[in-house]
Amino acid sequence: MPHLHRRALLGGAALLGGAAALAGGSPGRAWAQAPAAPGPFRLDPLPYPAAKNEPHIDAATMELHHDKHHAAYVANLNAALKDHADLAAKPLPEMLGGLSSVPDSIRTLVRNNGGGHANHTMFWQIMGGEGGKPSGEVAAAIERDLGGYDRMTADFNAAGGRVFGSGWVFVTVDADGKLALVTKPNQDTPLMDGQKVLMGNDVWEHAYYLKYNNRRPDYLRAWWNVVNWPKVAERYAAAKAGTLAI
Ligand code: MN
Repeated sequence: MPHLHRRALLGGAALLGGAAALAGGSPGRAWAQAPAAPGPFRLDPLPYPAAKNEPHIDAATMELHHDKHHAAYVANLNAALKDHADLAAKPLPEMLGGLSSVPDSIRTLVRNNGGGHANHTMFWQIMGGEGGKPSGEVAAAIERDLGGYDRMTADFNAAGGRVFGSGWVFVTVDADGKLALVTKPNQDTPLMDGQKVLMGNDVWEHAYYLKYNNRRPDYLRAWWNVVNWPKVAERYAAAKAGTLAI
């Protein structure tokens, strides 16, 4: 399990860094300002091993996607916010929902990298599951608003297939639990429109090219096999309770 081994090594390195900083005498700030991750945002580890989505999404794709692509969005976002402490103090959804008030000089950086951070944070959460079909309130909402599971997945896959170049396909959820299908280019997110995301799939080539090459429709169909419906149900409940952040 090279992936787990590497995680263990990284964990050890972080502990060593923390211990050195503690010896330096400013324990509180040492963790927040570790040299490897300056800035307000950080990359959380994948919530499951990289091979968890095999065979539908290969471990190498998961590792590259999380450890390189998502990591770059976080690093670039932190770099963009370096001299903007007031903005950096805002929660990410608020920052993305108010892009017009972000200074011109960093607006595109915040849009692309902040959007990328939000989108991927959601994405890892709702995968690593067993697929199958939703149940309970989410299933009822899909039936009511999106024509049921079969119709919803067909429409979602078709919409994802129509995204030209890089982008995302989402199901949004409002405070009343109403669902809608939305696509966005690049790393844009419905958070930029003040909406909440229930779930979404990444149709950038980096999400599937190693295994599926140019066959995006095959990837879109296979992706449903790794959806974590219990996690989606948690997000649905949180959206209705007003506590869904990203
Ligand atoms: Mn991606």
